[in-house]
Amino acid sequence: MVAALAVAGCGSDAPTPASPGVATPGTAAPATVPLPTAADLDGLLDATHRVDLQRVEVTFDLFPTERRVRVWSATTFRMRPGQSRPIVHFGPARGGAEVALTLNGEALDPQSESDVRLLRFETSGQDSVEIQRELAAGATHRLEASHVLSLTDAFGRFSTEVNDIEGRGNEVLFPTLNAPRELARHRLVFRVHDAEPYVCVGSGWVTPGNAPDVQQWVLDTEREVASYTVMFFLAPAADVVLAERRVRGVDVRVVASLGGASPGEAFAQLDSWLPELREALGPFPMARGLSIVLTETGGGMEYYGGTITSLRALRHEVFHMYYGCSTVAKTYRDSWWDEAINMWYELSMDPAFPVIPPGYRSGIVGARSPVTVGFDTRAYDEGARIIQAVAREVGGREPMVVFLRHLHQRRLFDPFTTMALAEEVRAFSGADFHERFRQWLYSDTEVAARGESSRAWLHRVDMTPSETVRRLYGQ
Ligand SMILES: [Zn+2]
Repeated sequence: MVAALAVAGCGSDAPTPASPGVATPGTAAPATVPLPTAADLDGLLDATHRVDLQRVEVTFDLFPTERRVRVWSATTFRMRPGQSRPIVHFGPARGGAEVALTLNGEALDPQSESDVRLLRFETSGQDSVEIQRELAAGATHRLEASHVLSLTDAFGRFSTEVNDIEGRGNEVLFPTLNAPRELARHRLVFRVHDAEPYVCVGSGWVTPGNAPDVQQWVLDTEREVASYTVMFFLAPAADVVLAERRVRGVDVRVVASLGGASPGEAFAQLDSWLPELREALGPFPMARGLSIVLTETGGGMEYYGGTITSLRALRHEVFHMYYGCSTVAKTYRDSWWDEAINMWYELSMDPAFPVIPPGYRSGIVGARSPVTVGFDTRAYDEGARIIQAVAREVGGREPMVVFLRHLHQRRLFDPFTTMALAEEVRAFSGADFHERFRQWLYSDTEVAARGESSRAWLHRVDMTPSETVRRLYGQ
């Protein structure tokens, strides 16, 4: 969900590694398996995701001079209704040998198909790790994993690099489920083994810890959130500027590249934007405020209580704190609506912003299965015009904003689908968009054109640090 003026999700057509700053281990190809048949959407999601995450705990030991990160994690979960064989999403499992796995205290051999099988459901685009054990319903189970990541870029930083347009979340770092409706409390511990001082910001409550001979922080989301919305960023203190300020009642931390984008400009934008959003949509929904990692160019990516973004995309990313990070789509394909609402809010300030033509047809939602990762970038253009058509019928921009405030407060952390959005519109205003949504969003089988949207820049995070920092590293 990057956009610029608004926006930013990130999407480029070029194939990218699992995470731009992290080496991809292994090459074992997963087996492709048919999508399970299910009577309804929840049944399909249960059959493909199988587990209900309870907690995700991860410890990252960062060794900057060795360019590596040792990762240990414990993921606790219950089985979903009718399911017994667990699945997690975990990119490093493709590497096999470097990964150690333990389920409920039993060591598993990631190299053995009698313990672990890599599979990919047709249409999903997401690798799954199926553990070859039958687990009891009702009980809480615990999967522990350890592995080593190699840092590939020249700089000393280590951060999340989620790309929701491509559908890449934090499963590149630790076992989880890369699914918007799957909410879990996350507790991440960062331990930097280096004499050089570091800074750390991220989602939720980030506190420095006490540990001998190591710099430590604990990040606690304190509530259940979608795993791909968890953000963190660590960097050598000498490479960044960290500024903290209370802006209109919201605690804001800004980290920017030394000699690069100005935290003061970020605060200046927020000084008017946060009050506007509060007035339009209600109180800022992030309990611990906002952490911003400012980049030099490009777009941004929103996370729970944080964003990695350029100044240009900042307003768009902060809007996502309401729509995207706390009013949450049920599946990836449904997340067109948080982008569309975000873009609409900006674009509809121009009264001439056009509605979608009545004869429009697309497969923005319907051309993707409910388990396909990523979403259709037509959300930014045609999607915003669909929301404009809704606004027109609800009575105009002002009543539409009232509806969005109502919807945000009613469905906070209660993921919902596109047709549930139509139902909410009908319940609020009487306007019935079910048939039109079917035609506008489900009537075609073609997937988004690969061509560039004029807003494509919003979708790309460019982590390249300032020239000052690049020089420090001889880059
Ligand atoms: Zn966005």
